[in-house]
Amino acid sequence: MILLNPGPVNLTTTVRAALTRPDLCHREAEFADLQDEIRRGLLDIYGLAPQTWAAVLLAGSGTAAVEAMLTSLLPHDGKLLIAENGVYGERFTTLARIHGIAHRHVTFPWGDKLDPTVIEHALKAESGMTHLAVVHHETTTGRLNDLAELGVLCAAHGVELLVDAVSSFGAEEVDFTRWNIAAAAATANKCLHGVPGLSLVIARRSALFADIPKRTLYFDLANHCRAQDRRSVVFTPPVQLCYALAQAVTELREQGGWRARGQQYRSLARSVRNGLLALGIQPLLAEHESSVALTAYHLPENIDYDTWHDELKACGFVIYAAQGYLAQRLFRISIMGEVTPYDIARLLLACRKIITAHTAPATRSNPLDAGLLDDAHNDPVSTTMKN
Ligand SMILES: *Cc1c(COP(=O)(O)O)cnc(C)c1O
Repeated sequence: MILLNPGPVNLTTTVRAALTRPDLCHREAEFADLQDEIRRGLLDIYGLAPQTWAAVLLAGSGTAAVEAMLTSLLPHDGKLLIAENGVYGERFTTLARIHGIAHRHVTFPWGDKLDPTVIEHALKAESGMTHLAVVHHETTTGRLNDLAELGVLCAAHGVELLVDAVSSFGAEEVDFTRWNIAAAAATANKCLHGVPGLSLVIARRSALFADIPKRTLYFDLANHCRAQDRRSVVFTPPVQLCYALAQAVTELREQGGWRARGQQYRSLARSVRNGLLALGIQPLLAEHESSVALTAYHLPENIDYDTWHDELKACGFVIYAAQGYLAQRLFRISIMGEVTPYDIARLLLACRKIITAHTAPATRSNPLDAGLLDDAHNDPVSTTMKN
């Protein structure tokens, strides 16, 4: 099955095989070496110096990393501004509310650009704003929020940026220094192509070890970081997931890093976009507004989401529903993970076949199409499933 959802992703056989390496006790030197290798490898992706920056590993999905970042980086006297234009931006606000963190939020319609003028106004409207929380790739709609623009704003106002980079880390540019980033949250199983259940926060050490109240036990990043710096752990780590992430980070480096992975995604995403456009399916956003990893599309005419999903699944492809009020109008395609141009060619063939089958015979422009596509369907290649 080819997974076109934004994580968990199709694994390479080598990452999957890493899960079966020998059992390890997490208090032994072998685990400490593995943990060191991952932490160093994660910083290397964006060329970050370990004296200034720390990669902190955490068991849990991406939301665990976001929650840990928010609760571990906001000082006693901190005040957070949250910019929302989708589900994950709104999740920041939910978290701030639950943990009693002083905050304000500015809300933009899902899919809209975060207007820097409005955000700057909000930063200046109240004294004492210390942090801005933004989602980098807002997976709700596929929009890539312009962190370069907002980062410059933060630097100008002495505000630190907290980034949900869960669906961009490893495939998009993240300029930690220029964008005044204090911390960014990410996960093993999206653009890094690891296994779900392990997440991470990259934090500037000076921000992590500032005077910050203890808001939770498990998600206390400073505590995790001190232990990991000592080649230890606070709680039982997911050893097998660590093996897989180490392998995935090695494979990202061998591919040529985030730039090469971004290029791979861009090329696949462009094939999907052009192929679907040829079938009359419109993307929600222009290419330059979208992440390389995921694009949202309008559903084809006369086909509801469940039908579209089920018929594509029968052809070996799992697409992803839109969230909230967009669920009845859109679907999403992510090309994170081990997805090849050949998979995309088969996907487009399957889309074409389904759309043709749902088009009333009288309105079919070329009756030959049906026959040609039936041939394609009977081709053993087009019905082969991966894994
Ligand atoms: C996937 C994702 C998350 C985390 O979701 P989990 O279900 O906890 O893994 C957070 N933010 C963004 C932008 C995401 O795409």
